[in-house]
Amino acid sequence: MIERYITHAGAEAIAEIVSLARGLQGLRVLHVNSTYHGGGVAGMLRSLVPLMNDVGLDADWVVLFGEPKLFAATKKFHNALQGEEVFPGEEELATYFRVNEFFARYSPFDHDVVIIHDPQPLPAIASREKREPWVWRCHIDLSAPNARVWELLKPYILRYDAVVVSSEAFRKADLPTETFIIPPAIDPFSPINRELPQEEVERKLAQYGIPLDKPLIVQVSRFDKWKDPLGVLEVYRRVREGTEARLVMLGNMAGDDPEGPEIFDRVREGAATLPDVHLITETDELLVNALQRAAAVVLQLSTREGFGLTVSEALWKGTPVVATAVGGIPLQVRDGETGFLVAPGDYDAAAERVLSLLRDPGLRARMGEAGRAHVRENFLVTRLLRDWLSLIGELLG
Ligand code: UDP
Repeated sequence: MIERYITHAGAEAIAEIVSLARGLQGLRVLHVNSTYHGGGVAGMLRSLVPLMNDVGLDADWVVLFGEPKLFAATKKFHNALQGEEVFPGEEELATYFRVNEFFARYSPFDHDVVIIHDPQPLPAIASREKREPWVWRCHIDLSAPNARVWELLKPYILRYDAVVVSSEAFRKADLPTETFIIPPAIDPFSPINRELPQEEVERKLAQYGIPLDKPLIVQVSRFDKWKDPLGVLEVYRRVREGTEARLVMLGNMAGDDPEGPEIFDRVREGAATLPDVHLITETDELLVNALQRAAAVVLQLSTREGFGLTVSEALWKGTPVVATAVGGIPLQVRDGETGFLVAPGDYDAAAERVLSLLRDPGLRARMGEAGRAHVRENFLVTRLLRDWLSLIGELLG
């Protein structure tokens, strides 16, 4: 299985992975997150866990079995860690700690390394007699966390042996725990990223009633305020003053994100005043793939973003991205090279960049090519696997 990545990552990358895995054969690694579906973390684990097994580790993945109240609390943590002034209520906090305590007590944690993803299962560590290294892998944009929530979670984070974040921008000066930077990555063989012949792209778009008569502007993101879906409409409104285009916004609902439906309703209201807008909430990974290929320009207008896998996904398909310069996005969009960066909320600048790309196919092609090369170099799952093997090796001495 790992061998098939030679075509994309090169033989040296595979040899390095095999060499790093040699000392870790049979090692039991447990990943814990809070959903099997929706969002970037679940997608990444779907590739990373089988690959870890393929190179000889014994990797497992379990999900914190929650209840709606848990996700109401953890979404507040998520929002607060990204800087919002919000704090879970007493009952939500009680649910959070109780669910984690039960989970820790009744789940099989008989492993050599435990990797906890994001805040949902963070406090499980407090209910374990811990013998093995535990890593807290935070995928959230930690550039400006709400102090009250950060102080509440910090004692739990301090119990961990290592913290992993996606970008240097998220390293916390007040966190003495050793912190590693491992950016996320995409799998070139997953349904979202695999090669897709043009006929298949067209068939997929036809299935959703999206004609290819005008250039497509696309944002693929959960309907989440941090992805600024209303801002996408604002940019599109301005673009339409300059040229014809269609806007497609695709966002499925993640199992651990209770805010999606409400945000979607607001987007639907906003979109009703604009022509040629397609809003889709279906879960369809081949549609993601087809849209990222068919788009003339992909947008990612997040106001906070841990990484934004959708950016690498689009670049991998040779599509330039106009995105906000926040969180993990500038790692992927090199301004003027693989796409354009704008300040969050600067819809005029974003529209101007989109228009310049729509008017210049040569520029689109050059940026698309640079984008694919940049992802090949930095954001394929083989690099992610290598970084994890290297970190696990280091933690186990
Ligand atoms: N995604 C999807 N269908 C959708 C919307 C998103 O499959 O309707 C995928 C998207 O292609 C990406 C992941 O979900 O692989 C989202 O990851 P990202 O890092 O962009 O954002 P997150 O949702 O984790 O904040």
